[in-house]
Amino acid sequence: MSIKKHEFGVCSNYFNDLKVNEIVKAQVKRNLDFHFPTDVKDVVMIANGTGIAPFLGMINDNQSKIKTHLFWGGRTQDSLSIYENIIDSAFSKKTLSSFHIAYSQEQKDKIYVQDLILEHQDLLSGVLNTNGVIMICGSVAMQNRVLEVLHTITTTHLDKPLSAFENNDQLKMDCY
Ligand SMILES: Cc1cc2nc3c(=O)[nH]c(=O)nc-3n(C[C@H](O)[C@H](O)[C@H](O)COP(=O)(O)OP(=O)(O)OC[C@H]3O[C@@H](n4cnc5c(N)ncnc54)[C@H](O)[C@@H]3O)c2cc1C
Repeated sequence: MSIKKHEFGVCSNYFNDLKVNEIVKAQVKRNLDFHFPTDVKDVVMIANGTGIAPFLGMINDNQSKIKTHLFWGGRTQDSLSIYENIIDSAFSKKTLSSFHIAYSQEQKDKIYVQDLILEHQDLLSGVLNTNGVIMICGSVAMQNRVLEVLHTITTTHLDKPLSAFENNDQLKMDCY
């Protein structure tokens, strides 16, 4: 799990105040629509902030080493530090093929994850064209911007609206 602490948040402060080895009572609520596909050649994961959390788990479980590309947006280089070891180990285990980062606060002109998607439009259209899957997790604001860019890419490169790929189960989303 990766949890953002809200100043007055009930659950995030509960987790923050836990001591190592303290036991948490919890229940798993399965989300059947948001699972790592195991029958495709390529997967693209797009996240911002704590939206990276489910993807780190999926990458860790990527036993069959499906080609996986992770795009992530964070505020500063510091935001990456808590995930760095996990990413490095994924590269050495070959469970992650590429990692693209957009920092919004590190330079004068803000860079967001949707800007990276546009820069890599050949990769994105190629993955969709060969029945690969795109997964999105993070804020709803990020999701909306990314969907706009993806729609532009599919209409330009593949002559189809993004909805055609969504209807074909090639687009999975879990945003909040
Ligand atoms: C599908 C899904 C996946 C998610 N995945 C993640 C994830 O991986 N990681 C993650 O960090 N989050 C994730 N979230 C978001 C997460 O659920 C919320 O951030 C979390 O529930 C906040 O819980 P909380 O109890 O800490 O805050 P709450 O107590 O619910 O408070 C919510 C907000 O209200 C404010 N607030 C509460 N009480 C007061 C008060 N008295 N006065 C002023 N302000 C107040 C809090 O500061 C906070 O900003 C996900 C959400 C969804 C729907």
